[in-house]
Amino acid sequence: MSPRSAQHGGPSMSSPMASAASPQPAGTPHITAPHAAPGASDWTQGTPVLRVDTCVACGFRTALRQRQCARCGGAVDSAPIAGPGRVWSHTVVHRGPTKDETRDGPYAIALVDLAEGVRVMTRAETDLAIGDPVQVTLREVQGRLLPYAVHAS
Ligand SMILES: [Zn+2]
Repeated sequence: MSPRSAQHGGPSMSSPMASAASPQPAGTPHITAPHAAPGASDWTQGTPVLRVDTCVACGFRTALRQRQCARCGGAVDSAPIAGPGRVWSHTVVHRGPTKDETRDGPYAIALVDLAEGVRVMTRAETDLAIGDPVQVTLREVQGRLLPYAVHAS
C-alpha cells in the first residue's frame, strides 16, 4: 500500500458503486475525499466522474467535495463537470517524490480553471502551456484514477 492510499483510508473507503463503474481492477487504492457528501460518488471513490459542489444558499462553488459550503455552511448540490477549461499553471516533474512517480518518464501537473468556475489540480500532457484550452477527463495513471488535462480538440 502506498503512503498516499494509507493517508486517505485506502480501498476500504471505496463505495459499492465504485467497483461497478470503475475501470480499475479490484483492490486498486483510491484517493478518498475525507469530507465528501454521501450519495455523490466521484473519482476519489473510484467512480469515473469529476464533480463540482455548488452552495444552495450563496452559490459558492468548489471541487473539494465538502459536506457543507466552506463560505456559509449551507447545503451543497453536487454535479458532474463538463470538462472544458483553461490552463492557469503547468509544470513538468522530472524527479517525483517516489521512484514510481517518474518510472515512466517525466509527467506534468496543471492547475486548470474549469468552465464551471473552479480551479482543479490535474495530471496533464507535458506540452501544455499557460492559457491553453484543455479538456479535463479522468485517466488511470499507475493504477490510480486521476483528473487529467489534455489539449482541447
Ligand atoms: Zn454558501
